[in-house]
Amino acid sequence: MPELPEVETIARDLEALLRGATVKAVAVHAADVLREVTPRQFASRIRGATFVRFWRRAKYAVGDLDTGDRIVVSPKFTGALLVEAGPFKRSRADYTAIQFPLTDGRVLRYRDVRRLGTVALMSPARFDEWVRRIGPEPFDPLLTAERFAAVVRASRRSVKTILMDQHRIAGIGNIYANEALWRARVRPSRRGTTITRAEAALLLAEARDVLHTAVEQRGTSFRDYQDPSGGRGGFLGLAKVYGRAGEPCVRCGTTLRSTHAIEGRITVWCPSCQR
Ligand SMILES: [Zn+2]
Repeated sequence: MPELPEVETIARDLEALLRGATVKAVAVHAADVLREVTPRQFASRIRGATFVRFWRRAKYAVGDLDTGDRIVVSPKFTGALLVEAGPFKRSRADYTAIQFPLTDGRVLRYRDVRRLGTVALMSPARFDEWVRRIGPEPFDPLLTAERFAAVVRASRRSVKTILMDQHRIAGIGNIYANEALWRARVRPSRRGTTITRAEAALLLAEARDVLHTAVEQRGTSFRDYQDPSGGRGGFLGLAKVYGRAGEPCVRCGTTLRSTHAIEGRITVWCPSCQR
């Protein structure tokens, strides 16, 4: 599902495309994607509002409205926020969950093939309460190597699980956890308590580096992931382990192994150079 690089791409694109745009109308076609509000509340609180900023927190795209409300979108595996020339004519096969015709004639459309994603509307107070439960951003300067090491070394869970735990560090999911662990030469199944301070420092540095590279590549496209203009990300070709199980490790030539033993998600690692 979209992680920091994909959602950062979505948020930056929406900021460039929609900052200052005003919503003319709201049509909710699939109410089951909504969180926190009814379709009627969602529509009435957004109609006539202007987008003042789009940004990302963890794996959520956040749209700030001039009313103070925030639209918080988690696209998950099959959601996409698309900005298109209007008017949009909906058909049964286009998976449109919500559309927001804009006063400038364009349409912001939330499309979700399997409706696994969520769209919430939060007041400022509710947003503050919600965001407090999410861990620090990977690029937060307050997340020092010492602090990260303390977080990792306090847990007996696998280091890969810790990396993907949004309460401990935000924005990292399966793809970039696999990549960061390979880069840092750390075996994904190791318990946090066994990770040295030096390994934790390297892991944080490599996580930051791979996330930065992936943002430059506009993320990884898989399943239905698309950016707001319908484009795809370019990171997959740069992945060293994700999607490469059974292929040789590019560092040492050993055949990469895979398992679903950690949290049910695919883990790919090199049994020789990840210790
Ligand atoms: Zn290797």
